Amino acid sequence: MNDPKLYQFDLPQRGRPQDAALSDPWYPGVQSYWDRCTSKRSVDPIYGIRAVVIHATAGASSAGAISVMKRRDDPASFHWLVPDEDEAQHGHLVWACTPEALAAWHVRNAASHPGVNGGAGRVNHWSLGIEVVNAQKNDPFSAWQIEATARLVRYCWAKYPNLRHVVSHAKLDPGRRSDPGGNFDWGRFKSLVIEGADNELPALVAKAVPLSRLRSPAATPCCEV
Ligand SMILES: [Zn+2]
Repeated sequence: MNDPKLYQFDLPQRGRPQDAALSDPWYPGVQSYWDRCTSKRSVDPIYGIRAVVIHATAGASSAGAISVMKRRDDPASFHWLVPDEDEAQHGHLVWACTPEALAAWHVRNAASHPGVNGGAGRVNHWSLGIEVVNAQKNDPFSAWQIEATARLVRYCWAKYPNLRHVVSHAKLDPGRRSDPGGNFDWGRFKSLVIEGADNELPALVAKAVPLSRLRSPAATPCCEV
C-alpha cells in the first residue's frame, strides 16, 4: 500500500507542455455557490500559483462532492472534479467547479508542509484543487481517473509559469487527512504528468449528459476550509 502522506513531486524546469487545451464544462448550476465557498486570491491568479493539490472525495458521487459547495455551514470547494467509474461522464469529461482565478476552499488555512512552497500556509490562495470521486478504503481508482487527473495537471503546468508542486492533501494535513489514499497510483500519475503520453490519454471531450443520469448525492466529502 502506498502512503498518501508521502505523495509529492515537483515539476521539472524542462518539459513544460505547450498545449493548454482542456475541455471542462461547468458542473450544472455550480456558479450559484461561488459566493459562499471561494475567496479572492491574495496572490496574482496566474504568476502566484505554486501548487496543485490532489484530493479524493471519500464519497461515491460527483453530486455528493458538489453538495459541500452548497451547504451553509462549513462549505468547501475545489476547481475540478473527476467523475467515478459508474458515472455517465466517466471517460468523457471532468467538471469545472470553481473559477481558477478564485481561491477554492480545499485545504485548511493552518495546513502546510516545509517541502511545499517553503512551508507557506493559506495554501488555497496559491494552489489549485482537484477532487477525484472515490469512496477510498476498498474503492479502486479507474485508469481513466488517473489519466484525467494527470491531464488536468498538465493543463495547469502549461498555463501557470510558476507552478512547481504536485502534492496530496494528506501530505499537507497529515493529522487529519489521508486523501487521495493508498489506492491512488501516484507513480503512474507522476509518469503521465511528467512524460505526457498525450497520445495515449483519452480526450476529455465535453458531452451533454442529462443530470437525471447522475446518481443521487450520497457522499461525505473530505475537504474543508
Ligand atoms: Zn482532500
